[in-house]
Amino acid sequence: MLAQRTAMLKGSGTAAARAAAKEASDAGIQVVDLTAGEIWTGLAPTIRDGAIAAIDKGINRYTDTIGVMELREALARKLTAETGQNWGASEIAVTTGAKQALFNAAMVLLNPGDEVIIPAPYWTTFPAQVQIAGGVPVHVDTRANGFVPRIEDISAAVTARTRAIVVNTPNNPTGTVYDAALLRALGELAIERDLWIIFDECYRDFIHTDVGHHPIVSVIPEVRSRTVIVNAFSKALALTGWRIGYLAGPDYLVSAVKALQSHTTSNPNVIAQHAALHHLQNTDGSFEAGLQKQLSSAREIGIRVLSGLSRIPVPTAMGGFYFYLDVKNLVAPEPWNLVIGDRDVDLLVRELIAKAGVATVSGTAFGDPYGMRLSYGIPPDRLPEGLDRLVEFLNAWS
Ligand code: PLP
Repeated sequence: MLAQRTAMLKGSGTAAARAAAKEASDAGIQVVDLTAGEIWTGLAPTIRDGAIAAIDKGINRYTDTIGVMELREALARKLTAETGQNWGASEIAVTTGAKQALFNAAMVLLNPGDEVIIPAPYWTTFPAQVQIAGGVPVHVDTRANGFVPRIEDISAAVTARTRAIVVNTPNNPTGTVYDAALLRALGELAIERDLWIIFDECYRDFIHTDVGHHPIVSVIPEVRSRTVIVNAFSKALALTGWRIGYLAGPDYLVSAVKALQSHTTSNPNVIAQHAALHHLQNTDGSFEAGLQKQLSSAREIGIRVLSGLSRIPVPTAMGGFYFYLDVKNLVAPEPWNLVIGDRDVDLLVRELIAKAGVATVSGTAFGDPYGMRLSYGIPPDRLPEGLDRLVEFLNAWS
């Protein structure tokens, strides 16, 4: 018998979807894999050069637990430019990906039983980490409002036990980008009800609409003392495997994160840290701009193909690199009342792989029995084919 902490844990739904795609491909099906939470592009030259230089210099030891000082200083400068406020290295911790930054935040903020409000559909790891930390995830459904949380709904979910609200914009999986008015309202609510904001902006560089990305601390500076900003190089530089992320928050929170991290992973990989530092010191922004352009063009191509969907709405996909489909019209109306033989979204996703060779992630991985996520971060020559097959299959599914 294992501890309750892990007994109730299910593995990541997105990782399971990736495995299903691989299994189908191993079985000989020509799969177009739209499950990935990453971009296909190769390495930024600045990252490559920084990593090789660090190896050539023989850099191979532990660093300070929360990152080398130069990198924390460079990240503070980056955040200063992005938010229009001054940040110092004492407010930054470098982590092993954004995932560890979020985990650290949950561990230093939550006492057993503390509630954390998470708008749904949500990235699958948010509630899992809250639970591991002993907290209770409280989901607020955004489906009825086009995947934009309504401030009344968030406010109604606040109780005496609420400790934090997760704000993820641009959002994974829905692609929603929160506008300044909503962020202001969320900030005001946090101040009024004495809550923390966990602000995950991992997709901030990929915006495809006029709304623009707004750091919540810029919209409402008073919320900064109760905000943890989380970001990473993973999505922004197509660098998921290098595992470099960071968080920013008040000094005392960063000190607690440092103590925690000193007993878990210690410092993030030293070569990856130096590569990130070299990038920040030398980038002219062209790699990032190229990625944004590439994704915007993939999105446009994708939206054109998805306009052929006859029974489900074309996704808005304002930010990030996902299309999120609302497949409610195709599946059984009350998934919680399913009987054997009923058609739910998991079945739809399975049949889509087996019969059309297109791998996607079921909304059930994101707390939504009516959703399906498609990544368009794949090589552009495969995307139209995959989406064509998907549209044909979904239009005919009965
Ligand atoms: N936050 C969100 C919203 C994500 O989608 C992801 C990855 O999919 C992460 C955090 C984790 O990023 P990293 O790979 O840097 O740990």
